Amino acid sequence: TDPALSELLNSRIRDVQDYPKPGVLFKDIAPLLADAEAFGALTRALAERAKELGATKVVGLEARGFVLAAPAAFAAGLGFVPIRKKGKLPGAVFARSYDLEYGSATLEVQCDAFEPGEKVLVVDDVLATGGTIAASLDLVQEAGAELVGVVVLMELGFLPGRAKLVPHLHGAPLETL
Ligand code: AMP
Repeated sequence: TDPALSELLNSRIRDVQDYPKPGVLFKDIAPLLADAEAFGALTRALAERAKELGATKVVGLEARGFVLAAPAAFAAGLGFVPIRKKGKLPGAVFARSYDLEYGSATLEVQCDAFEPGEKVLVVDDVLATGGTIAASLDLVQEAGAELVGVVVLMELGFLPGRAKLVPHLHGAPLETL
């Protein structure tokens, strides 16, 4: 990745200690989204990768992934597909559950989200434990699309998220801006 872009993005991400609970260092992207230069640079970088990787759809993960993926899809001239939390998408869906620190969560994608042969770039804000993206990659595969890459804004390097994703990537690249 481009060091100047990384520096700009980093400078607009706010660390919030002990949110939403004690012991968590929350990465707040609100200042980045509010800054036209940084948000524009992020959107253009995501759109560029979508085109370079040959994507035909950009997939965003609820909720902050939507805010990054949808403008990138538009800028790349591509369609957008949401992966949502359980019970938000009408009609037939594929569903995957994954473990959280306490309990579990379920993500869904519409069964008819992709045409045959579609190539997908998955976008989210933070890669932490990797549970969210792992479940999403399995959904993309189950829905019949080919994964061409995953791009996240940031990766928490002290957590084993990247290692967890390896078996779910099937050789596709995982990139951090
Ligand atoms: P995980 O499934 O553990 O990789 O968590 C990823 C999801 O949780 C992402 O969609 C993030 O939006 C959110 N998340 C996890 N950890 C953080 C953090 N420290 N700061 C901000 N968001 C986080």
